[in-house]
Amino acid sequence: MTVRDADAFDEPVGSRRVRGMNESVIREMTREARRHDAVNLSQGIPDEDETPASVKRAAKEAIDTSSQYTITWGLPELREAVAERYADWKGVAYDPETEVTVTCGTSEAIMSTLLSLCDPGDGVVYFEPTYESYIPGVQFAEGRPLPLDITDGLAVEEEPLRAAARDASVLILNHPQNPTGKVFTPAELDLIADVAVAEDLVVITDEIYEHIVYADHYRSPVTVDGLAERTVVCTGMSKTFSVTGWRVGFALAPEPLSAELRKFHDYTSICAPTPFQRAGVEALSLPDDYYDDLSDSYERRRERLYDGLRSVGLDPVKPDGAYYMLTRYPTDEPDTEFTLRLIREAGVAAVPGSSFYTDEGEDWVRFTFSRNRDTIDEALTRLDENRFW
Ligand code: GLN
Repeated sequence: MTVRDADAFDEPVGSRRVRGMNESVIREMTREARRHDAVNLSQGIPDEDETPASVKRAAKEAIDTSSQYTITWGLPELREAVAERYADWKGVAYDPETEVTVTCGTSEAIMSTLLSLCDPGDGVVYFEPTYESYIPGVQFAEGRPLPLDITDGLAVEEEPLRAAARDASVLILNHPQNPTGKVFTPAELDLIADVAVAEDLVVITDEIYEHIVYADHYRSPVTVDGLAERTVVCTGMSKTFSVTGWRVGFALAPEPLSAELRKFHDYTSICAPTPFQRAGVEALSLPDDYYDDLSDSYERRRERLYDGLRSVGLDPVKPDGAYYMLTRYPTDEPDTEFTLRLIREAGVAAVPGSSFYTDEGEDWVRFTFSRNRDTIDEALTRLDENRFW
């Protein structure tokens, strides 16, 4: 065997774009859960039986017929189905040829957009607590993070937003929001649109939870005057069809924005996995009931987890959308310590809430109710039996 010198380089090898960056805390918690045989309520992963049978079947069949590259922008039939469904859902017509791009998951849609539309030094506004991957995303693009903390009351304040936007080129809006479950109000969306137009911002919406909504006030941002023409909608199949490992996302945007993000997509991904794109056509043909049932089913789990966490002495915030629950706990220890004890001593995994902040974070933990009823019940039983707080 060749012996390798562990210190071959004089200087650290990581580029500025990755320096100081840690691995995703969410995924680290999943590994920690596996190591300690904990019930995993950390990463938002549904159970396998949640995927519609017809969609799974379509993917299996597609392996025999469709295992080679599609054209970079995505399987034409899928882009057509996406354009048709989203015209219905969002009231905006996207041209499947030039304005719909199939990406390797929503994360890639967001990264391709940031890397194609944000220059080094450009300010990027986002609301915090925030989905963790926007923070490295901004760093990859060498942008300047401009987080706006909405922890207090989960409400957008006009003055801080206007001040941050004056210094920004891009605004990222996760709607419904992970990890808070916040569904931005129509008034907040109007304000965001007003600010985006005034400051000429590109808006990136991460709408992966668009079909997991409990609040009546939900509205898609692109329905608000002024936003559709400056917004890249990033969404995908992962959460709606419970296929998080298939990595099929969609970027919907006016042609000038799509043309730019397609450059990055082209040279990094080539194309999303073809069999799963084919199954996407089947998924998008599911009837409207499917989407109602999805939200109803998660709403029942939300109630179960909320009541269960309260009954073991924890203090969760009930979300209006998505499938996460930020929760306060009664001890003084930092959330990372509390979470590691939850995994090791109570046998239940969660994510430390501080990982959803760019700098200093608040101490809370995030549980997911993406799991089935039995898994949630098992987690609650363990929390009850192994309570250390
Ligand atoms: N969106 C999921 C979550 O927030 C999974 C993301 C991830 O793997 N980082 O848990």
